[in-house]
Amino acid sequence: MSIHKETPMKIHAKTALVGQNWVQNIRLTCAGGRIIKIETDVMTEATDNKVDTLLPSLGNLHSHTFQRAMAGMTEFRAKGRESFWTWRDLMYRFLGHLSPEQYEAIAALVFMEMQEAGYASVGEFHYVHHQPDGTVYDSLSELSDRVFAAAVETGIGLTHLPVLYTYGGVNQEALAGGQLRFSNDVDRFLTLVDGCKGNLDGLPDDAQVGIAPHSLRATSPADLTHVLNATPDGPVHIHISEQLKEVADVEAKLGQRPVAWLLENFDVTDRWCLIHATHMTREETIAMAKSGVVAGLCPITEANLGDGPFNGPTYLKHGGAFGVGSDSNIRISLTEELRLLEYSQRLRDMARNVLVDGEGSVGHTLYTGAASGGAQALGRDAGTIAVGKLADLVAVDRSNPTLCALRDDQLLDGICFAASDDVITDTWSAGRHMVQSGRHVSRDAIVAKYRRAINELLETI
Ligand SMILES: [Zn+2]
Repeated sequence: MSIHKETPMKIHAKTALVGQNWVQNIRLTCAGGRIIKIETDVMTEATDNKVDTLLPSLGNLHSHTFQRAMAGMTEFRAKGRESFWTWRDLMYRFLGHLSPEQYEAIAALVFMEMQEAGYASVGEFHYVHHQPDGTVYDSLSELSDRVFAAAVETGIGLTHLPVLYTYGGVNQEALAGGQLRFSNDVDRFLTLVDGCKGNLDGLPDDAQVGIAPHSLRATSPADLTHVLNATPDGPVHIHISEQLKEVADVEAKLGQRPVAWLLENFDVTDRWCLIHATHMTREETIAMAKSGVVAGLCPITEANLGDGPFNGPTYLKHGGAFGVGSDSNIRISLTEELRLLEYSQRLRDMARNVLVDGEGSVGHTLYTGAASGGAQALGRDAGTIAVGKLADLVAVDRSNPTLCALRDDQLLDGICFAASDDVITDTWSAGRHMVQSGRHVSRDAIVAKYRRAINELLETI
């Protein structure tokens, strides 16, 4: 009889951010995906993974992986058309042909890119469920299983969020065209969620399944009540108040703006993540901050789609939690996502150093805030370096010219405002060492598979 015993993984860093403090010459010992021991002022040993500076890694709390394949294809202005049109048209043409194999190849590329950018985990807001004409695959969870396969291949920490998408608008219009692939009523949706939970067996222990009612447009108050009653635990994500038309439609139908209506009619607690929450009154912003939810901010996509900036100062002043997501995946860059979050505020307010309540480092506030908020939104016991937490970690090379002159207390400002993602040398997802020397360990195979898939897809659309 052989007894399998995992050899603990050890990481030695010259510097690390432990809690809110910078410490030197540290060794983390990790087993079972978690940090089990932290030693400080220690010399390196032969069995250590040696890195320069170690940080808690962020969770990317909002992603639609398949949209990555459209990046760069919708940036032209069509005369006489609304600006959203070219993007939506191409998305529906993609959806008319995208196969399960192609879906998996795109997801693997995206997850790999996220890890290379320093994200250890992802919330996949997954709304493509069926065949192009709306017919269910032999397995209801076929495309969720493809996301699972991509998570296994890349080693990323997955919080899978199957989406309930039932209607084409607040007046419960029927779905049509490309939307047929999204369609589920509440019963079939709950069957899908159960199926996904059952299929978690093939994934690492840190993977989990939550739910994502798509938006107040695509579901109804009764359906929302039903799915929440049936799903008392785990993350709940919803798109909200992204665009002005959506706010007007919800107000006309439900009598209140989206965030105000949601907070008043549901028990919106710390397991919720409100994606975008762009257009809010001051009262909505304060109420949301105090509710304990996470604001899921996606500054690069929100800029790309012309949504508008988040009301950051009021939200932070009232203790609101936030995290970041790459949403459409037009660009996957952790440093740029955090940078644009602050710069969008500066451009609106014509002021500097906006996203700090009181005084302090903007980079520190952004990075540590997004680390803890991202972990909360994804239901991951992570977001800080501490004994017992998941080993979601990222290592940074401070000899890089963009960082080499900075003190410890300036490092996160350097990462947020001066550096590119190439300062990232290593990423661990729950202890899985997937990025080494700046490259994902399976990069070549994942990229080759993606190239084959995208070329095949482009030949059919
Ligand atoms: Zn989204």
